[in-house]
Amino acid sequence: MLIIKTIIRLRSTLDKARAKGQTIGFVPTMGSFHEGHLSLMRQAKKDNDLCVVSIYVNPTQFGPKEDFKKYPRDLRRDSSMILKENIDILFVPSDNEIYSDRYLTYIDVEKISQPLCGHFRPGHFRGVATVVAKLLNIVQPHVMYLGQKDAQQVAVLRTMIQDLNFPVKVEVVATSREQDGLAMSSRNKYLSPKDRQESVVLYKALSSAKAMVESGTSSPAKVKATIKSLIKKESSGKIQYVECVNADTLETLKRFEGRVLIALAVFFGKTRLIDNIVIPQHDSRKIKS
Ligand code: AMP
Repeated sequence: MLIIKTIIRLRSTLDKARAKGQTIGFVPTMGSFHEGHLSLMRQAKKDNDLCVVSIYVNPTQFGPKEDFKKYPRDLRRDSSMILKENIDILFVPSDNEIYSDRYLTYIDVEKISQPLCGHFRPGHFRGVATVVAKLLNIVQPHVMYLGQKDAQQVAVLRTMIQDLNFPVKVEVVATSREQDGLAMSSRNKYLSPKDRQESVVLYKALSSAKAMVESGTSSPAKVKATIKSLIKKESSGKIQYVECVNADTLETLKRFEGRVLIALAVFFGKTRLIDNIVIPQHDSRKIKS
């Protein structure tokens, strides 16, 4: 595995690969790897000749009161963890490499960046879209791999890619979970043992919501209320949001139809966890009739 720190070296290495007709799969990350990251890398490796992984904790996607400084960084652990995954290139740019002192250009994907996490993390998706656009221009992959865990990120980046004509395909990989259902996240290590135990309620609540929808419940309000009451009953987590939206547009649903995304964010102590579940092509009217 090559560890590359500069854009110029990465470009010249990848230019040679492209000239040989090799396909490039790209996995952008912020490091602190877990099985979820590895599942994206394995998919990228399987589908392409080369797999490029980036680690960059992007300052522009963190709010002033968020955990940018505290975000876990351990390049030695991360690189040894992926040695056996046969990754071809690990790109680890410095802040100067990505944002010069005179940096002025940002990408704002309107509307779809506003609900859900965007409402509580103003500027977050502007930072995400900007850094991913830059990374796509730097790496120029054939396919980019994203996790379903960050459903709004997928929707925002798909929109950006379509609107700005980036020549890249997006593949979305299912959420990797711990045995008890908790979605893997770099932030899970901050949970106290009690919060870790209680956090299983998130997936439990999402799964029962999915069962409700699939068995014909047509009211998103009712499903949201069920999720909230279960979380309150079985944990001391503080709910930031629970929403039922169209999985592609992220528009709020008045009744369940189309591809449904049920997404939530809950604080356990200072740790904010997000999770979601997708119900493919649903139509509550068909179940009722
Ligand atoms: P991050 O390092 O948290 O920015 O995540 C990098 C990529 O890994 C993003 O596309 C995430 O959606 C994806 N990812 C994070 N956690 C998981 C998970 N539990 N399962 C699958 N993909 C994940």
